Formats: sequence, C-alpha cells, structure tokens
Amino acid sequence: MTQKKHPPHPWPRRTNPKTGRVEALIDGVWVSRQRAWQLARVLEGNCAKCGKARNQYGTLCDRCHTRLLVYKRKLQGNKPWTPGGPGRPPKGSEDEGGRAA
Ligand SMILES: [Zn+2]
Repeated sequence: MTQKKHPPHPWPRRTNPKTGRVEALIDGVWVSRQRAWQLARVLEGNCAKCGKARNQYGTLCDRCHTRLLVYKRKLQGNKPWTPGGPGRPPKGSEDEGGRAA
C-alpha cells in the first residue's frame, strides 16, 4: 500500500489549551488548521477550498467560485441574470464583453 506523502507543515503548530483545537502560527496570529490548510493551498497556486488548480479568480477554482455565487444568490434571495434584464451579465459568461452587433 502506497500512501501519498504529505508535505511538512510550513508553520509552527500547537494545540490550543482552552479549546483543544490544533492551530498554526501564521504571521504572528494563531489560526485554525482549516484556515492554515486554505492558506497553504493558495500559496501553492491552487483552490483554497478543494485544492485543485485554479484559473482566474483570487483563491477559488472555477467550480468552487460558481458554486459560491449560486449559494450567495440563494442566500440573498436574488434571481439569476437574464439577457435583456437589468444589471450586467455575469463575469466569464458569453454575454459579457461588448454589445452585440
Ligand atoms: Zn475549488
């Protein structure tokens, strides 16, 4: 059985004596292990959520970014954009960029 070897932890770690949670020291601040994992993926140039290669967005891959937009839209009670309706087209869509001739 061959297991993929994980890289060593890039930051010092501790167990919080109050909560018992594992934390990492990043830039002088103790953050949760989840946040440390996200920052490590971003430093690698990968998605902060799923760890896959990301394309154009700051910290998320295309799939996670789209899922986040859909979730936020539902949370705020907004409807998706429709051609001819108000507002600008979604970024990265075919309708974005210039008027139709
Ligand atoms: Zn992702």
